Amino acid sequence: MKKACVIGWPVSHSRSPLIHNYWLRLYGIAGEYVRVPVETAGLERFIAELAASEYLGCNVTIPHKERAFQLVTPADDMTKRLGVVNTIYRSDGRLLGTSTDGEGFIANLTSAGDLKLKDRKAVILGAGGAAMAIVGALVDQGMGEIAVANRTLERSGQLREKFGSAIKPVPWQNRNEALSECAVLVNATSLGMKGQPPLDIDLSRLPAAAVVTDIVYSPLRTALLSDAARRGHPTVNGLGMLLHQAVRGFELWFGKRPEVTPALYDLIARDIDADHTP
Ligand code: NAP
Repeated sequence: MKKACVIGWPVSHSRSPLIHNYWLRLYGIAGEYVRVPVETAGLERFIAELAASEYLGCNVTIPHKERAFQLVTPADDMTKRLGVVNTIYRSDGRLLGTSTDGEGFIANLTSAGDLKLKDRKAVILGAGGAAMAIVGALVDQGMGEIAVANRTLERSGQLREKFGSAIKPVPWQNRNEALSECAVLVNATSLGMKGQPPLDIDLSRLPAAAVVTDIVYSPLRTALLSDAARRGHPTVNGLGMLLHQAVRGFELWFGKRPEVTPALYDLIARDIDADHTP
């Protein structure tokens, strides 16, 4: 029986087991994916024992992504630059760690059809952990300008130091003005998520063809996406990113590259909707 898990504190909210166990059943693989609550004080020990444990590897969620990076070997250059891991696996007796949020974001963004990113302008709202992975992935795609509007401007500046001069830090109060000539608008803040304050943004300067995506997926249709759709923009919700970021971990642990299918999407969408049913 092949086993993998997700570690975090808390970890009970994680939908990763639903995703990976769906694929295990779909592909007829004898395996199991479980949640393992690991407190900060127990992280080092968990990782030290992982290579000899029953688990082939794990996903890492809040609050352990940065500390876990320091406890494993980064698998690739992008992970080294990001300084965080969300996926750990064994290879030749070593524990390797990688970050799959960036590829999940790009796979989701481009899943709806042809979208040219090279030399174009993106506006990212937020400069936290998820925004960092997204900015790195968009730099890799050759975007010409990536304006990063964040409440704490200093964090946008840190992204420029990490990823270079294509990153333009924008004060949070100037986010509406930054939307002119934008081809892709991304909400990578937690604003608009269930239990969080709403995202306040005026889309009137956004070019008509710009794609709007929200990485918040609870609710699935955020106020930003509704507003953008009303104005005729193509929209992409955040659930696809969650599903696509899981692909590489599954392949690394279980040896099969899984597909993100409409049936999987519906399964997780129903679970998210259940959270919003009074
Ligand atoms: P994080 O590191 O805590 O970053 C939070 C971001 O939101 C920061 O930029 C923060 O600004 C901003 N923010 C929070 N409250 C704000 C407010 N009142 N006004 C303005 N800005 C505010 O979190 P994260 O890990 O990047 O996650 C961000 C969101 O993305 C969460 O909702 C998470 O669930 C979602 N997410 C989705 C996926 C997916 O697969 N779809 C993956 C990862 C994350 P400051 O820097 O000023 O604090």
